[in-house]
Amino acid sequence: MDIFLIAIAFLFGLSVGSFANVIVYRLPEGKSIVLPRSYCPDCRTPIAARDNIPLLGFLLLKGKCRYCRAAISPRYPLVELLMGLVFVAVYLLLSARGERLILFPFYWFFCFSLVVLSLIDFRHYILPDVLTYPLLGAGFLLAVLYPGRLGSGEIGPELLRSLIGAVVGGGSLWMIGLLGKAAFRKEAMGLGDVKLMAAVGAWQGWGMALFAVFLGALAAALVGISLILLKKARWGARLPFGPYLALGSLLTLFFGSPLIAWYLGFYR
Ligand SMILES: [Zn+2]
Repeated sequence: MDIFLIAIAFLFGLSVGSFANVIVYRLPEGKSIVLPRSYCPDCRTPIAARDNIPLLGFLLLKGKCRYCRAAISPRYPLVELLMGLVFVAVYLLLSARGERLILFPFYWFFCFSLVVLSLIDFRHYILPDVLTYPLLGAGFLLAVLYPGRLGSGEIGPELLRSLIGAVVGGGSLWMIGLLGKAAFRKEAMGLGDVKLMAAVGAWQGWGMALFAVFLGALAAALVGISLILLKKARWGARLPFGPYLALGSLLTLFFGSPLIAWYLGFYR
């Protein structure tokens, strides 16, 4: 374990987290994610570079705008911290598996996309195509660029594996959507969820995609039932499913193989 590389991964994750905040804030409103520079939502003063340092800027300003003293949402540093930790986790996972360097940016992108999609879905109930399609594309690209990742090492079978993963992953959500429509007599699932799980299937294969859907549904059911019991939501209320699917996908990425081995251990 190399402390220096872990620190680099963490700092890189922090900056990517800062970029994630910009995307989450601007993309659903159709604003440019490049220009203008970030500004205080209260007094509209552009944020100086020294105050825009991920995590540190928030801490040094004690969570307040330098100019108007309006409180800055702790969501921003929390997203940065989360992305930093996730990037370290990816680094540790891939180096423990002795994976090639080419895979690191790919899996950072995978986790980045899932976190950003979750945050947008929480706030706006959408999973934008401009995020799900590149994720899907990257899954196929990975199969071409690095076919030795999980299977035979040949491009043909690996692409087929991604394709089956995409069809099964997306198809499972399509089926859940049909069942939900029959049960609640209204549209229960957006196409965004279908596209998200198609993308995860292209990355992780059909088995892990189904496992991710299972874990996501379990988490969503636990949260939904808790909210109903706490009277914060009622039966049939609209809850975004994307964040739970993303959570399930991250859990299967990091713990999928050990979890399945543990589960199958009961049947030996
Ligand atoms: Zn301000």
